[in-house]
Amino acid sequence: MKSPDPALVTAVRTKKHILLATHFNPDGDALGSLLGLADILEGMDKRVFRYLEEPVSPLYRFLPGCGQIQTDMHKVREFVAQAGEDYLGLCLDCGDAYRLGRHHSELIGFHPLMVIDHHKGNAGFGDGSWIEPHRSSTAEMVYDLAMTLGAEITTKASECLFAAISTDTGSFRYESTSGHTFAVAGDLVNRGVKPEQIANNLYDNYTLGRLRLMQEVLATLEMHERDRIAIIRVTQKMLERTFTTMEDTEYFINLPRAVSSVRVAVFLKEVEPLHVSVSLRAKGKCDVSLVAAQFGGGGHRNASGFRVKGQSVEAVRDFLLPILRQEVQV
Ligand code: 5GP
Ligand code: MN
Repeated sequence: MKSPDPALVTAVRTKKHILLATHFNPDGDALGSLLGLADILEGMDKRVFRYLEEPVSPLYRFLPGCGQIQTDMHKVREFVAQAGEDYLGLCLDCGDAYRLGRHHSELIGFHPLMVIDHHKGNAGFGDGSWIEPHRSSTAEMVYDLAMTLGAEITTKASECLFAAISTDTGSFRYESTSGHTFAVAGDLVNRGVKPEQIANNLYDNYTLGRLRLMQEVLATLEMHERDRIAIIRVTQKMLERTFTTMEDTEYFINLPRAVSSVRVAVFLKEVEPLHVSVSLRAKGKCDVSLVAAQFGGGGHRNASGFRVKGQSVEAVRDFLLPILRQEVQV
């Protein structure tokens, strides 16, 4: 485990106007890291811009500071122009520049941009980066950055960081969960986080529509290769029928993954007709980040993803299956 990159620490110390950005379809770690760091930086008297491509999913609206998120690119330009030389952009939890969304080229054109991330495939775009692939979460790194800066972590920031760590570790279960992860989580609890409250908000606060959607998605389950590969899918029709959105499918992939024989779980998501988002989860020795990388995606050894345009869900399943059959032989 490393300390925050010194150039990053100096930049955060000296710059007054800081823009925070993360990947599209932000998960708990992306949002929690962004909102937690925003609060920490404001405590240091910084002017902070919380940028997201889209409004926050209802799943995460309980996170303190959500209301201050802005999605307007015009406002970003104004912020950058006003900041002049006193500007810093921080990109959090984003393994690849294009995952910043449709304005990624413009966002990475605002200098300096520094990257804080824990994705294995992150080659380190931007003007500087602090990337540690074995870390449980970006939020754990944000906590260490705050410690290095000697900054205060309020209860609100602690809640954001705790929710982020909890979601990205599968509730402290994945192999990246280290002693340090628990030490950080413990300190966040000492700063006022109520784990039960965060867990209720994250995992016991769903709509009935989501449960109905889960019924439909689980009905699509296919098992292959002596029950080592599990595939589920969601289509736009299912979302329409259950009055849900794609965000409601968060964590569905953990259900087939939890079957003891399963080594790779696949979730095929029809984002729009002929646009498929693929989530991959692995257990044991399988490395699904390599599979995702073959299709221009990425992620971690045991959790990765990619997108395919111009092909149906069925076609994606058909080209992916032989590759996965190979992968589960190891
Ligand atoms: P999820 O299946 O939850 O969407 O993503 C699992 C992991 O893979 C996350 O760490 C996510 O950042 C990464 N990931 C998902 N899709 C992509 C992608 O298209 N490109 C890259 N580089 N990483 C992805
Ligand atoms: Mn993360």
